[in-house]
Amino acid sequence: MRMRKLPWAEEYIAQADVIIKDQTKNKGKWKQMFGCTSLHVEIGCGKGDYLLHMSEKDLESGWIGIEKDSNVMAIAARKYDQQEQHGCNIAFLLGDALALKEWFAQGEIDVLHLNFSDPWPKKRAHKKRLSHASFIEIYREVISETGEIQMKTDNASLFEFSLLQFQEGGWYLHDISVDFRRNVHDEDAISEYEQRFMNLGQPIYRAVWKKTPYINTDKKKR
Ligand code: SAH
Repeated sequence: MRMRKLPWAEEYIAQADVIIKDQTKNKGKWKQMFGCTSLHVEIGCGKGDYLLHMSEKDLESGWIGIEKDSNVMAIAARKYDQQEQHGCNIAFLLGDALALKEWFAQGEIDVLHLNFSDPWPKKRAHKKRLSHASFIEIYREVISETGEIQMKTDNASLFEFSLLQFQEGGWYLHDISVDFRRNVHDEDAISEYEQRFMNLGQPIYRAVWKKTPYINTDKKKR
C-alpha cells in the first residue's frame, strides 16, 4: 500500500542510528557486530513491529529489517527511538532485497522472514513477489546450510504460488499451517499486517522451508 510522502522522513532517516546507511560495510561481520550466534532478517519489515517485538523476545539473536519504502522505514526507526529500552541486537537497512548479496556474505543469514509480502495479484507482476524464483535464488546464497525461511501471509494465491516456487527451487517444506493463529504461538510476534487480518477474522497461512532436509537424530520411537 502506497503511503503519501512524509515530509520528515528523509531527515529522520539521516540521523537515525538504527538505520545502517552503508549496507555493505558489515557484510560477513553482522554476527560479530551484534555479538550473536544467530542472524534473523525480515524482508519488507514495514513499520517494524515484528522486528521490534522479536528482538526483545530473543535477545540472543541479531535482527535486521529490510525495507525499500523510506516512509515506513522512517516510522520503524522512530518507533525504535521511542522505545524505553534500546536493544543493541537490531538494525534496519533501507533498500531493495534484490541487493541482498551485496549486504550479506554467503551463508550469513540463519532465518529469513517474509511477513505479509505484497501479493502482486496480476500475473505480469508475479516476478516482483518476494517468493518468486529469482528472489529464492538470492536467498539460497545468503542463507546458511542449516538455515530456513519463515513465511506468513493472509493471501491464499500468494501462499500457493510460494509453495510451488520453493518446491521447484529445491527447498524442503518443514512446517505448514493454514490457520497459524488457531493455536497460541507466543514464540512468534504478530506483525502489523497480521494484526489487521486477524481483526478481520482471516486465517493466517504460514510455512517454513529448510535449505537442507531436516534429519531427526532422535532415535526414540514416537
Ligand atoms: N512485514 C510487515 C509489512 C508488510 S507490507 C508486516 O507484516 O506488517 C510489505 C512491505 O514489503 C512493504 O512495506 C513494502 O515496501 C516492502 N517490500 C516489498 N518489496 C520489497 C523489496 N523488494 N525489498 C524491500 N522491501 C520490500
